[in-house]
Amino acid sequence: MLKIYPNLEFKASCPQDGVTLQWLGVAIPGMRCLADGICPTCNARYYADLPVSHALELPMILNRETGEIYDPKDVEWFRRPLKEGFRAPIEEEIVPQVHRFLECDRIIIVNCLDYLYGHCLLKLLNVQRHLDEHPELGCCVLVPSQLLHLVPDGVAEIWEFPRSISEGGKWYSSLQRWINEKISNYQECYLSPAYSHPSHRVYDLRRFVRNLPDLSDKIRDRAPIILFSYREDRPWGRTLQQQQQKLQNLYERLSRIFPEMLFVLVGFGRENRIQNTGAEVLDLRAEKFEVERDRLWMAYMSVADCAIGVHGSNMLLPSGLAKSTITLVPRSRLGNIFQDTLFPHNLHDARDILLQYRSIYGSEDLSDLRSSTVAEIAIALLAFQQQQSFWFKVGEEEISSPEVSRVQQFATQYFLPFPFRPLRIYGKLTLRVKNFLNDYLERLDER
Ligand SMILES: [Zn+2]
Repeated sequence: MLKIYPNLEFKASCPQDGVTLQWLGVAIPGMRCLADGICPTCNARYYADLPVSHALELPMILNRETGEIYDPKDVEWFRRPLKEGFRAPIEEEIVPQVHRFLECDRIIIVNCLDYLYGHCLLKLLNVQRHLDEHPELGCCVLVPSQLLHLVPDGVAEIWEFPRSISEGGKWYSSLQRWINEKISNYQECYLSPAYSHPSHRVYDLRRFVRNLPDLSDKIRDRAPIILFSYREDRPWGRTLQQQQQKLQNLYERLSRIFPEMLFVLVGFGRENRIQNTGAEVLDLRAEKFEVERDRLWMAYMSVADCAIGVHGSNMLLPSGLAKSTITLVPRSRLGNIFQDTLFPHNLHDARDILLQYRSIYGSEDLSDLRSSTVAEIAIALLAFQQQQSFWFKVGEEEISSPEVSRVQQFATQYFLPFPFRPLRIYGKLTLRVKNFLNDYLERLDER
């Protein structure tokens, strides 16, 4: 927690002569939380990153006269929004809409703005920590409109910033002025460190995901529920056409084993279509964000037996809500592994994490990642996860053996050795070969 008003409790040195900077105030023009300062020796004016979110580890200092950025760790993706934002500030008057719930004299600001959806959501998860650990401070949450419905109960104010998430990296002069004026109305003001990757020990997703539609009528007699978190900018395959093929194959393989399955598609985009050849397909994708649609997606995530999708922020909520998750990991995402995963609050045994969260690694375009592999891991999860988890708990806690569901029966049959598997499990080609062999054997018998 960092005090920013009435005085700023922060230290930084002039990059040119190392003298401690003097502060004139703070500047929060968007995703960046900055200290506005001057060097008493060389008189240079600076904006210095305050220790918030990614700037905790990657602090930069911007020279206001030259636009030069001192970036000791040389991190281009984090430097770019600062550089571009400062160079081309938005002068249009855009200020947050205030939703006030509590009156407070002392506040803590959680700045959730960012130009990436995942970063915004992860910063938002810090709110719970402040509600629980600093009840004496009114929590004020600066969020883009797209996350408004996920702000937990108990906050003092929501400052809804009416711009899309992708525009969150820009520099809004009006926001900078608005926040400075706003904080001067309070006795004291702190800034949340808004950690970039909070652990499940400090958040419980149920406090953020609320008011979901009731699906009990829609999912009656449907099992398992498989959810695919769809995206078009990072497809599973070389092209969207290949993604289409892979999705169709995945659906058909699972459909053969689970005729009562519900296969749900969520996410943005409309390009690919799954042709219904057996089990029910529910296509809930959309072109753009809409809050009721988002709630519907989260409702299906919460009842999904398995959520599948390509690595990225599209997997955050599915991984936190579904009973199991399969993440398809392209080569370039290996350095970000599990950053797109939210764990449930009640996870105690590390083995349950390994059971529940599976990653499959592929080439950069994931074209080498076959639908049969993904299907098999999903079937294995449905067949064995519950039973394996039970065995891990025997002797650790009071637990009785779980009942075997129909889904589990079907899934287990898939792993029986070749002659014992039920016929419907085999694909069209295998069935044709089997029929051919049967015909041939019958003809042999006839001779
Ligand atoms: Zn200086």
